[in-house]
Amino acid sequence: MCRHLVYLGPPATLRELLFDPPYSLLRQSWAPRDMRGGGTINADGFGVGWYPDGGPPVRYRRAQPIWSDPTIAELAAVTSATAVLAAVRSATVGMAVVDGAAAPFAEGRWLFSHNGVVRGWPDSMVPLAAELPVRDLLTLDAATDSALLWALVRHRLRAGVAAARAVAETVTSVAAAAPGSRLNLLLTDGRTAVASTTGHALSLRATGTSVLLASEPHDDDPGWREVPDGHLVQATATVVRQWPLVES
Ligand code: GLN
Repeated sequence: MCRHLVYLGPPATLRELLFDPPYSLLRQSWAPRDMRGGGTINADGFGVGWYPDGGPPVRYRRAQPIWSDPTIAELAAVTSATAVLAAVRSATVGMAVVDGAAAPFAEGRWLFSHNGVVRGWPDSMVPLAAELPVRDLLTLDAATDSALLWALVRHRLRAGVAAARAVAETVTSVAAAAPGSRLNLLLTDGRTAVASTTGHALSLRATGTSVLLASEPHDDDPGWREVPDGHLVQATATVVRQWPLVES
């Protein structure tokens, strides 16, 4: 199952965030420490999105292992940002392996990622998909559960629903329609990040000036703590709140 992270804080290079730590996302792509629900490595794609000079995000996504792409390593060394969302992907059996299936998914300032699986996909999603404009269904980034989850979250954001509520409502409705789904979502606009924990691990490290939310701690810093299952986290670089999803 995929691994993802979001960083908010003082400028950091993509290299510092994705490549240098001992258990970095790069390492998690071939030796994750905490895989659940099948899958052993995360080699079906990767993606990173960041906000150059605080402006709208730029993405780099590929349907290949992160370790096999020399370009991202070169880019990462010279690219720094105050907000980054990145993921490495282990495709769920039967789902497309294409660039567009790799997170982050994006619109405007939003970047989004999903770690997990929607049970009974795609049939279980028919009632929820029916709430979306047909155009959204025809223009999904890829034929995957994650792309559909993004369409459901985005539909709420477009309607003006706040980020935390958009994530909570989507998780709750998908969990009801497809019980047993794993729904760890990550959403950021470059200033605030929202994460859900439903069926997968998520760890948090807040220093007071920066925050990292990641599927796995990327080093042995004692500042990491695990977010319990069934929770929502909302964080800026300096303030973190966490509460049970049922109270959302
Ligand atoms: N089910 C999603 C996909 O195939 C996410 C996979 C994951 O978390 N491993 O893209």
